[in-house]
Amino acid sequence: PKLKETLAKTRESFVSKVTQLVRRHDKIDEDFYEELEEILLQADVGVAATSRLIDAVRADVKKKKIGNPEDVRLLLRERMEELLGENAPLQFATAPPTVILVVGVNGVGKTTTIGKLAYRLRQEGRRVLLAAADTFRAAAIEQLEVWRERAGADIVKHQPGSDSAAVVYDALQAARKRGVDVVIIDTAGRLHTKTNLMEELRKIKRVVSREIPGAPHEVLLVVDAATGQNALRQAELFGEATDVTGIVLTKLDGTAKGGVVLAIREERGIPVKLIGTGERPEDLKVFDGKEFVAALFA
Ligand code: GDP
Repeated sequence: PKLKETLAKTRESFVSKVTQLVRRHDKIDEDFYEELEEILLQADVGVAATSRLIDAVRADVKKKKIGNPEDVRLLLRERMEELLGENAPLQFATAPPTVILVVGVNGVGKTTTIGKLAYRLRQEGRRVLLAAADTFRAAAIEQLEVWRERAGADIVKHQPGSDSAAVVYDALQAARKRGVDVVIIDTAGRLHTKTNLMEELRKIKRVVSREIPGAPHEVLLVVDAATGQNALRQAELFGEATDVTGIVLTKLDGTAKGGVVLAIREERGIPVKLIGTGERPEDLKVFDGKEFVAALFA
């Protein structure tokens, strides 16, 4: 599906409201700004990004002596693009293996994302190995196995309940031996025992950097767009424990909360690198800020 279709719900709730707003008002006054603010907040753009956008639009209106509310649509679009900034592509090691650590709370779509990413990298001709380091859930290991087959990747797994850092160690040894290009590490996401989980992730990271200098090359945090502001809180939590280098925003299809992309960028300073647009192997897109904003305003 086109990004425009994926974002249908967000577009409907956000841009159609903006369009109505600029048509309904005949001047740009405080009422106008208040309504615009409300629309942004409802689209999960978040308080900080919303006030930055409103302030920027206000300044533009003043500087360019704009009187027609219809012109605000374009200003807003430009400022949203600016806020999202330059695109941040996935980083690869200069000499393989590249190690990508994937973290996130259970249910956000972490395993599916790993499967889709493996599929994508395989399509590009890279050798991929999955490390099943979410040893906490037997189902996670099975699910990863299904994706491994679908993508045509290798896997290293141990028994459920075993030491996740040991799985990672074995995976890295196997990767070196087999000439693997990319190792993708699945990790646990049980949040109720938060401190233990963060300890476990730090331990995995230590093993990775000890075994492969310069690794991990990416620490991707997977968050579910449909959870809106919760996704922001998760970025904060995991960001503190693991130096997240990029966000994967899943389930953008079927949610009206797509504005959370802007909130994460503004409040956490972490770039969105990939987006989930469905449940099929090919439903993972490299995030492009300009394309995203264009699809929203299409
Ligand atoms: P995990 O617990 O984080 O590993 O989550 P899973 O990978 O098991 O995904 C949970 C559910 O979300 C599954 O039913 C997935 O098919 C679904 N899912 C994951 N990513 C997306 C997405 O981008 N779009 C949609 N519509 N569903 C997704």
